[in-house]
Amino acid sequence: MRIGIPAETRPGETRVAATPETIKKLSAKHQLIMQAGAGLAASITDDAYAAAGATIGNAAEAFGADVVLKVRAPSDDERALIKPGTVVIGMLNPFDSANNVAMATAGLRALALEAVPRITRAQSMDVLSSQANIAGYKAVMIAANTYQRFMPMLMTAAGTVKAARVLIMGVGVAGLQAIATAKRLGAVIEASDVRPPVKEQVESLGAKFIDVPFLTDEEREIAKGVGGYARPMPPDWMARQSALVHERAKLADIIITTALIPGRPAPVLISEETVKAMKPGSVIVDLAVSQGGNCPLSELNKTVIKHGVHIVGEPDLATLVAADASALYARNVLDFLKLIIDKDEQLVIDREDDIIKATLLCADGQLLRQ
Ligand code: NAD
Repeated sequence: MRIGIPAETRPGETRVAATPETIKKLSAKHQLIMQAGAGLAASITDDAYAAAGATIGNAAEAFGADVVLKVRAPSDDERALIKPGTVVIGMLNPFDSANNVAMATAGLRALALEAVPRITRAQSMDVLSSQANIAGYKAVMIAANTYQRFMPMLMTAAGTVKAARVLIMGVGVAGLQAIATAKRLGAVIEASDVRPPVKEQVESLGAKFIDVPFLTDEEREIAKGVGGYARPMPPDWMARQSALVHERAKLADIIITTALIPGRPAPVLISEETVKAMKPGSVIVDLAVSQGGNCPLSELNKTVIKHGVHIVGEPDLATLVAADASALYARNVLDFLKLIIDKDEQLVIDREDDIIKATLLCADGQLLRQ
């Protein structure tokens, strides 16, 4: 089987869907075609890919394979290079219906890795987790870099410096890593989430959980989320959370927001009123900026200063850690590939498999997800 790995062309995308490590594992049985330069932004040379067993080719050759491994959904120009029936695997943006239709019309068999279900068997293929982990780490690095004071408490001959107070909003994979990273730097941390089990996780990392009480059974039920993901909370609960967060934000030096609800705009958690109440020089890193932001003042691809607060609106922070982000992504892809290659090294897309069922966007010209 021929497996192609094109270079990513989306602006700002630095990752690549295969590394020499994964190429080596596949190249004994398959022909691997890497587009020349595909790994350069992640510090991987063509020579390293060739040494691992890949053939270096051009875009048409990489897209002309039987299976195409991507990070991002193919653009219109890229799609034109892919022949009908090709299996395309990547973060294909399953909530973008127009893109799903375009891929179905092109006759692709498209598998969206973001839609991998949160079941134990699929953990090693979970790209949202592998990339969110990196984003949570990098958010703290960016915050520390933007913040004009120290993170840890310091006792020096010139006097004592207080530890930074960090508030984490949304404690999924990114939020937990942000807590752990900020803790290593010596910050004092508080965190908020809707899902009740998060409290214990937050406390086990040495941070304080901001408890927003549930006043009705309905609130308690919605807060459980579905499939590991949050659901939108009722306005009453959001108002109580907002009031509590407003008070904690006044004391915070750094706020990192990561709250997402799949397929919906990100919930607003840090209002303009709250930003106004924050200390001058404090920092907000809004990881949800590409879904509209957890702070309405954050701007996509920009760091802005509003009411004296630095607000970082950098999307896709994993792209700023390109080498490790690619290494983890490529391993997720490799594990996913094992699902669709049988013991005779033939391509088999078993539509009864739970993971395939959840990720297959289209096949044989048929749209399987709107
Ligand atoms: P996510 O990226 O979808 O959202 C980030 C966080 O924002 C979540 O914790 C969510 O509860 C929170 N959030 C949403 N609305 C909020 C609000 N109004 N206020 C505060 N917080 C809000 O989440 P994620 O990182 O994908 O992880 C969600 C959960 O799934 C985690 O507990 C994670 O450990 C779990 N998970 C399980 C598996 C598995 O079992 N295989 C794999 C990955 C993740």
